[in-house]
Amino acid sequence: DGSLELVKVTKRYGETLAVDAIDLRVPAGTYCCFLGPSGCGKSSTMRMIAGHEIASSGDIILGAQNITELAPAKRGTAMMFQNYALFPHLTVLDNVAFSLKMRGQSKAERYRKAGEVMELVDLTKFASRLPAQLSGGQQQRVALARALVTDPGILILDEPLSALDPFLRLKVRTELKRLQRELGISFLHVTHGQDEAMALADLVVIMKDGRIEQAASPQDVFHRP
Ligand code: ADP
Ligand code: ADP
Repeated sequence: DGSLELVKVTKRYGETLAVDAIDLRVPAGTYCCFLGPSGCGKSSTMRMIAGHEIASSGDIILGAQNITELAPAKRGTAMMFQNYALFPHLTVLDNVAFSLKMRGQSKAERYRKAGEVMELVDLTKFASRLPAQLSGGQQQRVALARALVTDPGILILDEPLSALDPFLRLKVRTELKRLQRELGISFLHVTHGQDEAMALADLVVIMKDGRIEQAASPQDVFHRP
């Protein structure tokens, strides 16, 4: 199953202790929002879960597998980047299918799966466009499709709404929640917005100085007597 467990996960950069022995359990199919001041270790935690950085110590367990030191493509996680990181010379379809190419799937299978995911995020009509021919919101959907095409058990979103205008932000927020429910996987969503966390999260994690201060339902975190 897709339950995630962090056991004493730690990240040091030289003298900086960015993440300080955190423990966390996220059951499969949870919408989990991470909040906390800039520099408290949210991004470092996400990068360790996604495998873009290796933990200095501790263990990251997904389902029955210890993924602490696995390569990003082998862990069953996917990350949507803040700047979308699309390939400018590839069409939308090829951008989405690309992650599967690295995983050695046949061309027919890659395009079938890419088509399915593009349908899911309403991108089908833009399949043959280049990223530069899309709006910011559309580019973000390509980045989302590219992350989802690998069938991850965990999708990581680092401030996915912060670059969008207020109208689009609400629309994408609703869309993310729908997708998470429909796919039944866990989303780990870093945000500065309490309202965002309140609207989306099953589980809210508050970080401070590299530690987890609180991990509870939004009701418990935001409405304490
Ligand atoms: P947040 O995402 O909550 O803003 P980060 O995980 O980006 O926090 O940063 C946590 C701490 O680690 C900060 O003190 C930051 O300066 C430091 N840090 C983050 N990435 C690096 C890096 N690549 N090299 C050195 N220090 C880093
Ligand atoms: P965030 O929006 O998460 O706070 P930052 O602006 O702190 O992001 O960091 C942006 C990038 O710079 C990240 O890739 C991070 O690894 C890197 N970084 C952050 N702090 C440091 C640092 N003190 N030294 C080197 N790299 C850093």
